[in-house]
Amino acid sequence: MEFIRPGDMHSHLEGSVWPEDVYAALKDVGVSFQEKTKSFIDQTYERDASKSTLLVFISKLSTRWIRLGLLSVYKAYETQPNLIKEKAKEYLHSIVRRMIYRANNQGLGYFNMLYSPMNMAVDPRRGDLSKEKFSVLRKQISGRDGQNPMPEEEKELYTWFESKIHGDQFGEYLTVQDYLDIVNDEIKKWHNTQPREKMPVVIQTLSFRRDSDLTLIKNGSAELAETLDFVTEAFKSGQIDCIDICGNEADERFELRSYTQFFYELESCGVPYTLHLGELPDTIDGMKIVQENFRVFFDLHPLAIAHGVRLTDDTPWAKLARLHMEKEQIAWIICLTSNESTGTVSVIHNIAVFMKQALHMKIPKCFGVDDAVVFAPVSGGVPVMNEMTWFAQQLIDVGVNAHAVELLRDQLVAQSHQTFQGFYEKIRIMREVIKKKEVK
Ligand SMILES: [Zn+2]
Repeated sequence: MEFIRPGDMHSHLEGSVWPEDVYAALKDVGVSFQEKTKSFIDQTYERDASKSTLLVFISKLSTRWIRLGLLSVYKAYETQPNLIKEKAKEYLHSIVRRMIYRANNQGLGYFNMLYSPMNMAVDPRRGDLSKEKFSVLRKQISGRDGQNPMPEEEKELYTWFESKIHGDQFGEYLTVQDYLDIVNDEIKKWHNTQPREKMPVVIQTLSFRRDSDLTLIKNGSAELAETLDFVTEAFKSGQIDCIDICGNEADERFELRSYTQFFYELESCGVPYTLHLGELPDTIDGMKIVQENFRVFFDLHPLAIAHGVRLTDDTPWAKLARLHMEKEQIAWIICLTSNESTGTVSVIHNIAVFMKQALHMKIPKCFGVDDAVVFAPVSGGVPVMNEMTWFAQQLIDVGVNAHAVELLRDQLVAQSHQTFQGFYEKIRIMREVIKKKEVK
């Protein structure tokens, strides 16, 4: 059998940059955090394998530190406005390059990289920062994650930035188009320095966070048309391959129903998308929201569902959702360590049952590490390979079959690869179709 390299089908850029990468990227542009902030961050990180809760998990996400670094750069070059944007770009280039370097070292065959400009202190749209349009970034900064404790330096930087964005000097900061350009440029450079056969195939997914209190993709929002236009153009030109929605599903204000217009429009334009869905723990409230989301999902045709732990539930809506995925061949991206660490699947027995069901469903399956910084310490080595080994081990433990773990794992690698190919092919065809439409 031909050797197939494993692939990571779900990796958030902002969750895959280690604190030391942020420090190094800052150093590249001649800025640094205070020592107190550094040790605060390092402490937050403590790379142990202990079980965690969703809140602990969120506090470890490097998103917050990448963004804080960006604010530090803005602040450091405040008195040299002509340098602000250049330095901010340099900093993000450095961050993306380091993330790619780490991914490259894993020797992956393919790689789905998700990134969310909404996580950053960039205006989450095309650019063109008129005063009126700046409201989105204002909301984003004012509604910052809220998880704490927060070091003094962080508080100060936010207060400073808030005073700036409520003032008149906004043209100098990064826009989402800058972010897209930076990611594309670094991927291109990566391609140019690697031998072809060693390069993973990269899918770029632009992810929208539903819990950022952003109105960019909400039904009836004034910004919806602009967002659609922006992502359609970026897909057509090959700057992005896929759209995604991520973020807190637990808050009913962010249920899937509020975004249906965006997804229907994407479908009619022919832009591929994936959904973070069914990721909640099986609490009473969680179940209510998930059930409601599955009901909405039944009318949608994403390329894949990320997480989808609740798909394995024995409820009518979960069953319908599974049938829908089978019929439409919607891929299921499994992030085991992530699901376990966030407490989505709290009991080891549930994981085994979950896996057994997963194996028997005729739904294309593949694996992802989600946020390498948070989960790689648990997984170690080549995280996605360990995910599959673990998966195979659990399957054997619940008596799925008597294969050796490695053999079963190799089958999972092959199955994952097949799923990826289907996914990739759909994207390719959809882009061809959308380009043809343009000619007519
Ligand atoms: Zn995710």
